[in-house]
Amino acid sequence: MADFSRELEFFKNPKGRRVTIAGLGVFGGGLGAALYLSSLGCRVLVTDLKGEKALASSLAQLSGSPIEVVLGKHREKDFCDVDLIVASPAVPRDSFHLTAARKAGVFVTTEIRLFLARCPSRHLACITGSNGKSTTTSLAASMLEYSGHRVWVGGNIGVSLLSHLAEIQEDDRVVLELSSFQLDALNSACFSPRVAVVTNISPNHLDRHGTFDSYVDAKRTIVRHQCPEDIRILFSDDETLALFGPEGVEGGRVLPFTGRVGSGGGLRLDRERHVAVLEEESGVQDLFPLAGLKLLGEFNRLNMLAASGAAWQLGATCKGIAKAATAFPGVPHRLEDLGLVEGVSFYNDSVATTPESSMAAMTALAGTKLILIAGGYDKGVSLDGLVDTAMDHAAGVILLGATEERLRRGFSERLAGGDVSMSLFSAGTFEEACEESLRLAAPGGTVLLSPGCASYGMFENFVERGEAFRSFVLEARQRVSTGP
Ligand code: ADP
Repeated sequence: MADFSRELEFFKNPKGRRVTIAGLGVFGGGLGAALYLSSLGCRVLVTDLKGEKALASSLAQLSGSPIEVVLGKHREKDFCDVDLIVASPAVPRDSFHLTAARKAGVFVTTEIRLFLARCPSRHLACITGSNGKSTTTSLAASMLEYSGHRVWVGGNIGVSLLSHLAEIQEDDRVVLELSSFQLDALNSACFSPRVAVVTNISPNHLDRHGTFDSYVDAKRTIVRHQCPEDIRILFSDDETLALFGPEGVEGGRVLPFTGRVGSGGGLRLDRERHVAVLEEESGVQDLFPLAGLKLLGEFNRLNMLAASGAAWQLGATCKGIAKAATAFPGVPHRLEDLGLVEGVSFYNDSVATTPESSMAAMTALAGTKLILIAGGYDKGVSLDGLVDTAMDHAAGVILLGATEERLRRGFSERLAGGDVSMSLFSAGTFEEACEESLRLAAPGGTVLLSPGCASYGMFENFVERGEAFRSFVLEARQRVSTGP
């Protein structure tokens, strides 16, 4: 049974109480918590190690509010001499200042805990996984909307729903994307949703979690506190089912989804009839057609299956699911088609911050004379799979950022055999990488920005990286159309 008693206790009498938001960020959580608590009459202070430039978009939305801002540093008194701390998922739980706060007896919570403590909806689904979270979350929400429900989407997708709490009704549907860091903080509240989705699992964020086991352990919170009548929608083609199913942890009933051929209960793709189906004891339902979908890639069909399962559990209709699946245009920065420059197709997959997501994107575009732009911040995960997949599908690879050296070594080793030829280029800057991609690509070919690594070190975040790529493509198109 979920326990948000400390949050609820705070909400009884918030006026005049001092709150520190540790980590403002630019993805909405810190900002949402600051504005919400300020609107309740709290004395809110926001502190972030980053500076004004990096936080400009969030700071602009704080202007005119009575919220105090301390940037570029954390002061001990802002952590130890307050009534509540709302910590961003980006601030490590065992950071010096959060540890000091706990020692001083200050309760540390998170934006998502505050939301869940007060969320009035009885129809909540939470979605996690190493890849495909945002796509699956957006799809599930759209399927529910097409089925006639009022839907709210929030969490790691970059939206804080705190300021909408007053509008959310008991019968509304709420779909939350949850990261491993957000889940970690929910564990101590013994919270798991009635409907949980795990899209897949592979090593990620090991720089923060330390080991794969502790990463998986954080993710397991999504099912750990479920009751037997709750539902967990799990990918049965990889380890996900073993790690999150009955063997791995007790929880709700498993509804598996698979891309493999064959029957058996759950969500699957009927490739003979070209339709996705849900097979339950009560019978088989057709969910969505496999032809005519706007989203590219087998992995997106799997995301659609997972999303259908979540939407179905929250009361979506087969018709609503099918309409949403067919109409869904994709989410920006996720294998986003930016159009043509001199006959070359450009795809922006800046959100691919793991090797697996980059591999999925390359596979989706296989056979298109592919030039890949990859590399970035080093999270300490293996890059072998990315290199192998690029060897299979790419005609050229442009390397970037802190992982450039590791990637180059990987490619050089494989190329030393001499059977395969591939253009390999190390770019000093992102602009150089973009220009080189245009030079290397042949008409009819494809350039894919799918770095397989996080953007830190070159950009503030993947959105900034994707927008830089979009600007390059727009500018190059203009340059070409106006001539020299
Ligand atoms: P997340 O929110 O988990 O980062 P997104 O839905 O934003 O995931 O997708 C990010 C990228 O990850 C996509 O552009 C694609 O390259 C890859 N991806 C998406 N879904 C999957 C999946 N089911 N399996 C593997 N890779 C995926």
